[in-house]
Amino acid sequence: MRVLVISDIHANLAALEAVLDDAKAFEFEAVWCLGDTVGYGPEPDECIARMRLLKPRTVVGNHDWAVIGRMDTEEFNREASRAVLWTREHLSAESVAWLRDLPNQPLVSGDFTLTHGSPRDTIWEYILYPSVARANFEHFETPFCLVGHTHVPMIFAAGADDQTPNVIRVKHGEAVALRGDRRTILNPGSVGQPRDSDPRAAYAILDTETATWLPRRVTYPISITQAHMRAARLPERLITRLEFGW
Ligand SMILES: [Zn+2]
Repeated sequence: MRVLVISDIHANLAALEAVLDDAKAFEFEAVWCLGDTVGYGPEPDECIARMRLLKPRTVVGNHDWAVIGRMDTEEFNREASRAVLWTREHLSAESVAWLRDLPNQPLVSGDFTLTHGSPRDTIWEYILYPSVARANFEHFETPFCLVGHTHVPMIFAAGADDQTPNVIRVKHGEAVALRGDRRTILNPGSVGQPRDSDPRAAYAILDTETATWLPRRVTYPISITQAHMRAARLPERLITRLEFGW
């Protein structure tokens, strides 16, 4: 089965559309989304509507939770919190209902566990360092765990001793072979707000038959998203960061 793996769309419709367009060539049969469909960006309803059509397996992210009032905005920095408040005021009842139904527990699909932050702290923990990845290996039962939240595409593969994970900084278009005999944590990066100094939208195609993970980057019309954000009076810092990827 070929799976489109996406995360952290953050209400950026132009980025989401570019990803879906690029991914079409891979004839994916399923969509897995690792949370934060909304927050930061100007098109929360539109992004949720697109996602609902795709019938993805989706978990909830910290922004999704804050937007539906399950988390206090004091947990967020000033700009993120302003975007959460703006999103609350601009979401339809249908979108709120969709977000409310998302699980905040890890989802298991075959050999893969899906979560937003980490398997031990689904909403908040960032897996950016080998030490954090290693501490999480014992918190999932499947060989592979898919995470989002950091907005940085990367892979942590347990070493032979299960102690020191190898960090794989993935490259666009270079498929990574998946080994089922050791724990591996994979992050597809962010569709709507990349933070690895590459402003292109990020996603991955997972092929469970060939056991490969194909990282992809796609250019999208950033200025369109920025114009919508300006019209919505979202914070300037959030608008600027999109073109630099931080
Ligand atoms: Zn996010």
